[in-house]
Amino acid sequence: MNSLQDIWSGIMEILAGKLTPVTIKTWFEDCTPVDLKDGTLVLHTTTDFKRGILQSRFETEIKDALRELFSCDFELLILAGDEEYDPYPDSNPLPEMDGYTFDNFIVGKSNEYAYAAAQGVVKNPGSKVYNPLFIYGNSGLGKTHLLCAIGTSIHEARPEARIAFVKGDDFTNEMVQSIKEGTADEFRKKYRGVDLFLVDDIQFIAGKESTQEEFFHTFNSIYEAGHQIVITSDRPPIDMLRLDDRLRTRFEGGLMADVQPPDVETRMAIIRNKAGHLGMQLSDEIVSYIAEKITSNVRQIEGVINRLTAFRDLTGNEITREMVDEAIRVVIRDGVYVPTPDKILDETARYYQVSTEDIKGQSRQSNIKTARHVTAYLIRNLTSLPLQAIGDFINRDHATVLAAIRRIEDQIRKDKDMAATIRDITSNINSRQ
Ligand code: ADP
Ligand code: MG
Repeated sequence: MNSLQDIWSGIMEILAGKLTPVTIKTWFEDCTPVDLKDGTLVLHTTTDFKRGILQSRFETEIKDALRELFSCDFELLILAGDEEYDPYPDSNPLPEMDGYTFDNFIVGKSNEYAYAAAQGVVKNPGSKVYNPLFIYGNSGLGKTHLLCAIGTSIHEARPEARIAFVKGDDFTNEMVQSIKEGTADEFRKKYRGVDLFLVDDIQFIAGKESTQEEFFHTFNSIYEAGHQIVITSDRPPIDMLRLDDRLRTRFEGGLMADVQPPDVETRMAIIRNKAGHLGMQLSDEIVSYIAEKITSNVRQIEGVINRLTAFRDLTGNEITREMVDEAIRVVIRDGVYVPTPDKILDETARYYQVSTEDIKGQSRQSNIKTARHVTAYLIRNLTSLPLQAIGDFINRDHATVLAAIRRIEDQIRKDKDMAATIRDITSNINSRQ
């Protein structure tokens, strides 16, 4: 997802699954997104009355949708009429990360080291031992959760602390934007002066030279001031192939902690905990059944339990194995997550910093062409979509799609960089399911 508009479309899509078309038309037709940053989504609507309704009736839905999209909690600010929005308020930039605390993080062998390190940071922020703290591991294993928990705890203990939370790709986009708008100085100040710098999914900055350069300076100025930095990534620095060596050295200079897939006891504890939160009681048999079936991703466990609540609402309280199977079938197919072509398109566009319209359009510009070929290649490899359907998706005939796929296959064999690119984008797709 690139632009604010894409994010808003994503939210509206989720809401469309929950609200009636009439409701959407009445309350959302003249509601527009204004900004999304520092953990706040800013919307605008025409009248005070509509704002009141949006706040009282739909705030939770909108926040839930944001959480679904970003796995993190956001605040909502709704402007009405001719109210204006100041994108640079002096206030603390802490996003509301209430949902993710140490209290609701289940600790087991797979994550106890990362958990202890995260708590170490909270007790002793800026201590040389934990600075930076680099948490890595596959998607859906609680990295963002721990990162938010650190932010929340430090904010509680020291409300005056300046905390910045940023995703690797937002850092990139913000930087590019600030250069375009001539506000690079403000961008620098915003991050360089903080007490706690939380960076989620740093893998998104690898391979982008100017961003790495800026990040390096940001890192140094925070680090040299003795302030704390916490970074998450889907892989350790050594596996970030296009990471600048200076950054690699910095990242490895603190404490590295990995999160592994939870063992069966931990999975069962997580299942009970999540179900409990949703007011759902599962029998021991069902709990172990789910724990047996989903082994490598807590986000998927959550997805299955969320689905189960829908069954419960339909059928009363009895959850059966069949319902679990059905929920699992929807959440994961054949044990692997199958991304949608749209998702692949979004992530490829984001990686190449071009628009999805460019990829589907006629431009012959070389980076757009490459992005288009990579999109075709990834759709072919990650989904079982036939060539014709891929062609329809990117407005090409099937022979062109085939040629594009062949070309990427060829490049992967010849060029280490292309292999790394494919790996990076695939991993980005998987880390944002
Ligand atoms: P990652 O950032 O590693 O991809 P997240 O932190 O977004 O994963 O975790 C995915 C979901 O699983 C979140 O909703 C999170 O709260 C939940 N989760 C992950 N690990 C745990 C855990 N140990 N205990 C409770 N919830 C967890
Ligand atoms: Mg995450």
